[in-house]
Amino acid sequence: MQIAKTIAEMKALRMKSFGSVGFVPTMGYLHDGHLALVKQARAENSVVVASIFVNPTQFGPAEDFRTYPRDTERDLAMLEKERADIVFMPSAEEMYPERFSSWVEVEKVTDRLEGSCRPGHFKGVATIVAKLFNIVEPTRAYFGQKDAQQALVIKKMATDLNMNLEVIVAPTVRESDGLAMSSRNVYLNPQERQAAAVLFKALTLAQNLREKGEKNAERIRQEMTSLISKEPLAKIEYVSIADAQTLEELSELDRPALASLAVKIGKTRLIDNMVLE
Ligand code: AMP
Repeated sequence: MQIAKTIAEMKALRMKSFGSVGFVPTMGYLHDGHLALVKQARAENSVVVASIFVNPTQFGPAEDFRTYPRDTERDLAMLEKERADIVFMPSAEEMYPERFSSWVEVEKVTDRLEGSCRPGHFKGVATIVAKLFNIVEPTRAYFGQKDAQQALVIKKMATDLNMNLEVIVAPTVRESDGLAMSSRNVYLNPQERQAAAVLFKALTLAQNLREKGEKNAERIRQEMTSLISKEPLAKIEYVSIADAQTLEELSELDRPALASLAVKIGKTRLIDNMVLE
């Protein structure tokens, strides 16, 4: 496994790569959700590139950029075990030099949910992913359904800007009680960790109601909200039943819908989602 710490090193390794290149961008502190993406990239490509970069521009001023968990040695050991070929770990100084002034903004699909709770977040995400795509030049790039809105934003960006790659979205990997794996789960103390299962419970409730024939989206939102409200450590930011493509809130479930939510458990903000077919 080769490690590229500069853009020039990454580009040099890319020049020497033959066949298809599968790319998995991450912010590190890897878990089985990330590794599932690496496994899929490994199965589908000749060369696998993973990146580790905690992107400062996608964090708001009051968010956890400084405290975001980091453990490069452990990450590299995990990537080596999954047979990644190249790990790109650039510095923030090189990715955002002084006088950096070009940004990618994806409109509309970023207006809601995470976009409205975290102003500027998707501008940071789209810009860093566009930069990484230009540096790595992947054939296929892998993202998790865990961040459903992010996956839609990246797909839209790649289509609208005619990027020459395929965006692949892989299922959410969960803990045994259903909690979606996340680097941020490490912030949870034991009581909070137990309480965090309420996100999955609420999504499962939505899915059950849908399966039983419930068509009224507001009814589903209300049931989810009432279930989460019973958990004293949980504070809802949003509960959404939206069109799975546009993320516009639905009143009637007459098309594929995305049930999604953001909930604070203590100080930790968690998100999760499920597609309601
Ligand atoms: P992050 O390091 O949190 O930026 O995530 C890097 C990539 O891994 C993103 O495409 C995420 O959507 C994906 N990812 C994070 N958690 C999970 C999970 N539990 N299951 C599947 N993919 C995930």
